[in-house]
Amino acid sequence: MTEALVHIIGAGPGDPELITVKGKRLIEEADLILYTDSLVNPELFVNVKPNAVVQKSAGMHLDEIVAMMAEAVSKGKKVARVHTGDPSVFGAILEQMKKLKAEGIEAEIIPGVSSAFAAAASAGIELTVPELTQTVILTRAEGRTPVPEKEKLIDLAAHQCSIALFLSATLIKKVVREFLEAGWTENDAVVVVYKASWPDEKVVRTTLGNLQDDMRKNKITKQAMVIISRAADEELIANNTFESKLYDKTFTHGYRKGEPAHE
Ligand code: SAH
Repeated sequence: MTEALVHIIGAGPGDPELITVKGKRLIEEADLILYTDSLVNPELFVNVKPNAVVQKSAGMHLDEIVAMMAEAVSKGKKVARVHTGDPSVFGAILEQMKKLKAEGIEAEIIPGVSSAFAAAASAGIELTVPELTQTVILTRAEGRTPVPEKEKLIDLAAHQCSIALFLSATLIKKVVREFLEAGWTENDAVVVVYKASWPDEKVVRTTLGNLQDDMRKNKITKQAMVIISRAADEELIANNTFESKLYDKTFTHGYRKGEPAHE
């Protein structure tokens, strides 16, 4: 199979070392690099081909973006369409791929490190703590963009698992209200990571009750990942043994036979 001419590449959260090796190579081989917004680090483009066109697409509409990529492809050029984090979450890639396909162009997606995971890493937390929570929901609060009826935050919050909120920094008042209505308490833990993995990153550990104030004090109104999870509760984690079966010496699994438990 010949390599696609258009690659939709996950740039990762910001740190230029957090892109995949493949994504980096494809950017360095591209003739046209079209990147989404200010959360894509321009340092990723220091080693591009001498004649490569590097352009931000923030001010362009869908048809312009697709036309620019299609024109490059028609001349046999390679295109790197670079998105923040992982392109498959809140990347708006589907509409681009459909329009490219209508022009006879198949795009290939290269995954990236989503900001949800970069934020968890910066906060030093495990999102799935054994016996505490085994599920992560990636979602957003409803603002100007509607969410489907069955995915209202209040219903998702009722699961009381780890919930990572994208695109929600300006909707915090509503988020807190819905979580409290769904059964969480004001003392439940939240970690907000502003610009995860960037030099000016901020990690704010707070609670649902203090979330709004703490975001205001830290002047965070955008570019933030909000993780609401008991797994982010440092005291709870420190004072309890939440251990996985995987490394439990009495637990037998495919790679190791457990030892009998001693009382
Ligand atoms: N595809 C991206 C998300 C794009 S939507 C990903 O996988 O991360 C843009 C939203 O992602 C922002 O509003 C913010 O909530 C989050 N985001 C992206 N990069 C971020 C970063 N470095 N730190 C914190 N949040 C980030």
